[in-house]
Amino acid sequence: MDAVEQTTADVVQRVQDLRKLLWQANYEYYVLDAPTMPDAVYDQLYRELQNLEARHPELITPDSPTQRVGDRPASQFVSVKHNIPLYSLENAFSNDDLAKWQERWRRVVPDVTEFDYVCELKIDGNALALTYENGLLVRGVTRGDGIAGEDITQNVKTIRSIPLRLNLDNPPPVVEVRGEAFLPLSSFEQINQEREQAGEALFANPRNAAAGTLRQLDSKIVARRKLDFFAYTLHFGSGDLRLESGESNPTPDSPLPTPHSQWDCLELLKQMGFRVNPERQQCADLQTVQTYCDRWSLDRTRLPYMTDGVVVKINSLALQAQLGFTQKFPRWAIALKYPAEEAPTIIEQISVNVGRTGAVTPLAEMRPVQLAGTTVSRATLHNSDRVAELDVRAGDTVIVRKAGEIIPEVVRVLFELRPEGTIPYQMPTHCPDCGQGLVKPIDEAVTRCINASCPAILRGALVHWASRQALDINGLGEKLVLQFVDTGLVESVADLYDITVDQLLHLERMGKKSAEKLVQAIADSKHQPWARVLYGLGIRHVGSVNAQILAQRFTSVEALAAADVGAIATVFGIGQEIAQSVYDWFQNPGNQQLIQRLKTAGLQLAGDVVQPTQTNAAIAGKTFVVTGTLPTLKREDAKALIQNAGGKVTDSVSKKTDYLVVGEDAGSKLEKAQSLGIPQLSEADLLTLLTPPA
Ligand code: NAD
Repeated sequence: MDAVEQTTADVVQRVQDLRKLLWQANYEYYVLDAPTMPDAVYDQLYRELQNLEARHPELITPDSPTQRVGDRPASQFVSVKHNIPLYSLENAFSNDDLAKWQERWRRVVPDVTEFDYVCELKIDGNALALTYENGLLVRGVTRGDGIAGEDITQNVKTIRSIPLRLNLDNPPPVVEVRGEAFLPLSSFEQINQEREQAGEALFANPRNAAAGTLRQLDSKIVARRKLDFFAYTLHFGSGDLRLESGESNPTPDSPLPTPHSQWDCLELLKQMGFRVNPERQQCADLQTVQTYCDRWSLDRTRLPYMTDGVVVKINSLALQAQLGFTQKFPRWAIALKYPAEEAPTIIEQISVNVGRTGAVTPLAEMRPVQLAGTTVSRATLHNSDRVAELDVRAGDTVIVRKAGEIIPEVVRVLFELRPEGTIPYQMPTHCPDCGQGLVKPIDEAVTRCINASCPAILRGALVHWASRQALDINGLGEKLVLQFVDTGLVESVADLYDITVDQLLHLERMGKKSAEKLVQAIADSKHQPWARVLYGLGIRHVGSVNAQILAQRFTSVEALAAADVGAIATVFGIGQEIAQSVYDWFQNPGNQQLIQRLKTAGLQLAGDVVQPTQTNAAIAGKTFVVTGTLPTLKREDAKALIQNAGGKVTDSVSKKTDYLVVGEDAGSKLEKAQSLGIPQLSEADLLTLLTPPA
């Protein structure tokens, strides 16, 4: 992300502000073990500072956060200088960054044509350097600032997966093993639960919890907290003989095989009695590396510990030695971070959107930013109360969040980066579409346009009516809807059914063929079942699942229109609020007229009585969520089948979900279900469950 760069003074100011913010973040993260900024946001702001410094080298100061390896913690432990610095890793945020890294290192060694990589999970913990003399653990030191760390030997000895003695008959005189000490997720949750009960501040994440634990003065507390350790680096002797020689066996008398590669080192570490992460993989080329990274960016949720990316290392130790290190990183390794779900960006302006219910939603229009694998340039600010609470203004740097399919939202403003001269946001007093005064009931957060003929509301209603889950009118999208409303051709969804080919031909860029196709698609929608029509009406709180449930119980529009709130609320899965909303909708004379016109147009406003065909013990009373594209069934059909067999279908995954029915391209629902350990069913599994044994 770039700063707002009109003048050099702006750049100088931005660089200073970024530094201050990152210093503070470093202090909270490394010294207090209590970060307040998400890692992905830190990474991006850090990158912004790096980019600005690269373009304006005169602004670099020795104390800039970009010039340091880590941070030196304030500590009661004895400081120990590392024989070989514990370097940080360069970050990559995309496959493109990985490709550029490969190009870069290959330019340093142009003659090298054969090479391969080792991919390891980037465990989100704390690096430790363990020294073994004649096979015995004598020292455990934290990474610290990379040059010197803290001697925490007593604490390290409490970690059960760290051997106190190497599993070797004839150990070399000095061996240094490096790896990651981490807290398994279950231990992390338990610690935070205990802290909550004791009224203590919670740890922000397992990495900070592990750091805080390792630096505990009382080793008994450390022992209780069940830290774990994966080893990933092996050095012999007091210096890095491996890197100097690349080939030579530093322990001629020992039976150890000579490691030639990172892979050999990992195998050797295993032999010596360390835990080595089982998910490591040798990769012949960058494409295999990328496949590994893509896989783990999804599968990481299945692991019982946190990872924040993948570390890609050149396998050959000789090649590693040739490439060496920059001031901060090894040139032969890089960390690919998983797609961020939170990132900083700059608000360009705040606008409002009027939805189909008349709700006026403030929207942040932002510099485009990559989030959860997509480019995001707009985020909801929900309502005026939320805008005031966030105090978000045009020009602000903010943190935006988008997880999976969830709508992007602004989480908070980084006030430290607020430029001068910004002004607080005021919601408009009049609808930007129809110009009528907006209304905000005192007890509601939402501002509304209550003009029933507001073009924005009509546009929203038409787009919803034509959407796939509703009447599924192929070819009727937002652009056409805009023309329909602007030209006055359509003033209600019922008008769609009176449109002729000739009328359409008057619209911009409309050919005869397209016009005929559209009229046919509109006519075809008359065959859509009653449940879809009900959903298409856009009654508040009636989503596609609720529409199915209501249409099964009330098999005609007359029956539903005649029902009182109590009768509607007795339907399984329909609460009081939904029932009230449905009831109110049918009391409105304008809506009653709409129903009459739809009936005259020939839409399906009744359906067959659909009773559960037979309650199936495997399905009845169970809660299902359906996600992704199923091989043969439409999602709606799968839902109807489950409901007919006595099951319940909900839209979101929670602890109460019994099964997730998964198709292709499933997104965050699958991730959530995996993290909650909810069983998954394929379409075939579902059909088997639905077919009762003969
Ligand atoms: P890093 O965490 O990005 O990468 C280096 C570290 O990766 C190594 O020291 C090692 O501990 C670890 N690692 C895990 N598995 C490994 C493996 N298989 N092989 C090799 N190393 C492995 O870099 P860093 O310098 O330790 O920390 C910087 C990061 O810390 C930033 O990118 C940021 O995400 C985070 N940070 C966050 C804040 C905040 O306020 N949120 C502040 C400061 C730093």
